[in-house]
Amino acid sequence: MKKEFVVIGLGRFGGSIVTELVELGAEVMAIDISSDRVEEYAQIATTAVTADTTDESALRSLGIRNFEHVVVAIGENIQASILTTLILKEVGVKHITVKAQNDYHEKVLRKIGADQVVHPERDMAKRIANNMLSNNILDY
Ligand code: ATP
Repeated sequence: MKKEFVVIGLGRFGGSIVTELVELGAEVMAIDISSDRVEEYAQIATTAVTADTTDESALRSLGIRNFEHVVVAIGENIQASILTTLILKEVGVKHITVKAQNDYHEKVLRKIGADQVVHPERDMAKRIANNMLSNNILDY
């Protein structure tokens, strides 16, 4: 059976996660509040839906709790990111990964139960710097 994922927020990070997961053979539901962004991913994702994920009933009606892993890639709107994560926890999503904007954001996300918090630019910079020092240019 194919693995099923949800990506909320289709900016550069969320959009790249969708594309990568699909290329790896997964089923992906892509969600954004902006119908233009959803339109962009309609041909790429398995399903693309326009929804405000701070609306609990909207999330429930998408059957969100049946997916194994949800990625919250809402960037600038920290309030929406936190509220979305909280709702995902409450409906019982098993694994939640969230993109953090800063350390305060991360602190709150961990407190409310995000399983994995990522800082894409910072994480990638660390990885590249480490690889530069170990002269391992093959794995950037
Ligand atoms: P990146 O650097 O990856 O592009 P970003 O920090 O610029 O990310 P944003 O553009 O702020 O990220 O947010 C990513 C997406 O999240 C946007 O497409 C935005 O429409 C979407 N988004 C914001 N609020 C909500 C919400 N309440 N429900 C669903 N999607 C949302």
